[in-house]
Amino acid sequence: MGLVTSALFCGGMGYVMHLRAVAEARCSDAENQLKAFNQHTIVSVTDRNARITEVNERFLETFGYSRDEVIGQQANAFYPDKEQHQFKLIRQAMNDGIPWTGELQLRAKSGRPIWTQTTVFPVYSDAGEHVSSISTRTDITAVKQMQSEQDMRAALHMLRDQVYVFDAETLHYTYMNKAAMDRSGWGDDYKDKTPADSVAEFDRSRFFERAKPLIKGRLPQLTYVIETDGTSFEINLQHIINVDGRAQFVAFANDISKRLAQEKAKDDFVSTVSHELRSPLTSIKGGLGLVLSGATGELSDKSRSLLEIAHRNSDRLVLIINDILDLQKFSSGQNQLNLAKTDLSVLIKDAAAANEAYCTQYQVGIRLVGTDEPHVVECDADKIFQILNNLMSNAAKFSIPGDDIVVSLATDGPDTLIAVRDYGVGIPVEAQATIFDRFTQVSGQDRKSKGGTGLGLNIVKVIAERHGGKVTLESAEGAGSTFVVRLPSRHSAQGRVQDAEILDAAQ
Ligand code: ADP
Repeated sequence: MGLVTSALFCGGMGYVMHLRAVAEARCSDAENQLKAFNQHTIVSVTDRNARITEVNERFLETFGYSRDEVIGQQANAFYPDKEQHQFKLIRQAMNDGIPWTGELQLRAKSGRPIWTQTTVFPVYSDAGEHVSSISTRTDITAVKQMQSEQDMRAALHMLRDQVYVFDAETLHYTYMNKAAMDRSGWGDDYKDKTPADSVAEFDRSRFFERAKPLIKGRLPQLTYVIETDGTSFEINLQHIINVDGRAQFVAFANDISKRLAQEKAKDDFVSTVSHELRSPLTSIKGGLGLVLSGATGELSDKSRSLLEIAHRNSDRLVLIINDILDLQKFSSGQNQLNLAKTDLSVLIKDAAAANEAYCTQYQVGIRLVGTDEPHVVECDADKIFQILNNLMSNAAKFSIPGDDIVVSLATDGPDTLIAVRDYGVGIPVEAQATIFDRFTQVSGQDRKSKGGTGLGLNIVKVIAERHGGKVTLESAEGAGSTFVVRLPSRHSAQGRVQDAEILDAAQ
C-alpha cells in the first residue's frame, strides 16, 4: 500500500475530515477499495510550501515522470503557463482552509496536455497549522477530446458549405451535413445514395481518374469546379482513412455561382468601359499628333510643350486601356492560346528588331545569346512576342545609357528558358514580392519620368502561366535585373494543363 493511499484509506491522514469514515473502515476491506482508488485516481501530497512530498503510481504513469523527478518539485511545475493563475487560487484556498475543486489542465513530461478534474484538501496539524495538501485528480482528457470532437461535428453540421463523406469503394454516402441534406432533400436515407444521385453528370470512372493522386497519397487535396442543375460548385476533395481502417472521400461543395456571376458582371463592365474609352481616345491622340506635326500651322513653344504633354499622356492612356482589355480577355477565357510550333530563336530576333528603335531612344544596345540554332517550342507566338516586348522595353527604360540588354535562350532539362537581363537601376528587394501584381510601379524619382502602366509584368506573368510556365526575377538595386520566363516542354491552354498535371501525378 503506497504511503499516500494508505494514509487516505487507513486513517493515517486523520486530518482529512470527510475521508474519516473511509479511514475508520477495516483496513482489509479498504485494501480492495484502495486498489480501485489507486487505479483510478491520481494522488499527490504537497507540503505547506506547495512542494511535492509524495505521489502515487497513477501520478507517475499519467505524467511519465520517475518518482525522483517529481519529489521536491513545486506543484506548479506541471502547470502550463495558462493555468498558473489557478495555482495561485489553490494556494489561497489552502491558506483559507477551504478545499478547492475544479478542472485543471496539466502537462505530462512529453509536453502532452492532460485534463484533470482536481480536488485539493488542506491538511492541518493538531495545533491548527496548515501542514500539507492532498490533491486527488481524475484524468478527463479523453472526455475533453470527445467533447471537442462533438463540438467539431456540430460545427461541421451547421457549416454553410455542403459536406459529403462517402465510401472510397462503393461511393455510398456515410455522412452529410445539414446544408448537403437540405440541398438533396434526403433525410437519413442518404446512406443508400452515391454522388451519382446528387450530380446528374457524375461519371464514376472520370471521378476515380481525377482522385488517383489523392488515393496514391501524392496530393493532400484536389480543388475543381463542377456544374450541375445550372449551379457551379467548387469542390474540395480529400481522401482519408477512418479509425476503423476504411477509406473515405470527404467533399466540401461551395456554391460559387453568385461569385462567378459577380466577377463576370465586373469584367463585362470593365471591358465595356475600356472599349468605349478607346475610340474617343484614339481620336484625341490622332488630333494632337496632327497639330504637333505642324499640319494646322505653327505652334508657339508654350503651346507645343503643353500639347506634347497631352500627347504623351494620351499615349499612356491608350496603353493602359489596351493592357486592361488584354488582361480582361485572359481572365474571361476569351483570349485562348493559339498554340503552334514556333522557332523561338527567330521570334527573339524579330522582337529585338521591333524594339531596336525604342532601345536607341534610351541609347541601349541589344545582345542576343543562344539564338544561333533553331529552338522550336509549342507556344502562342504572338503572346510570347508580347512577353518579349514588355520585358525588353522595361529593360531598355531602366538601363543606363551606353549599356546593352541581353536576351538569352537556353534549355533546362525539358524546359525552355528565356532571360532578359539589364544592368540598370534594378528593383529594390522590398518591391520584388509584388512586382508582378497589377498596377505596381516602384517608387523613386528616377523612375517617374519613364511612364508605363504598371500592367506589363502582370501580363507577362499571366501569359507565362497560361503556357503552364512561370516568370521569376533576380534583381538588386543598382545592379540590374534579370527576368526569366520558364516554358515547360509540354503545355496546353489553362484548365487542360491542370488535368494533365493531375493525370501525370497519378502515373
Ligand atoms: P510599367 O508599364 O510601369 O513598366 P510593368 O508592370 O512592366 O509596368 O513594371 C512595373 C514596374 O516595375 C515599373 O514601373 C518599374 O518601376 C519596375 N520595373 C520593371 N522592369 C524593370 C527593370 N528591368 N528594371 C528596373 N525596374 C523595372
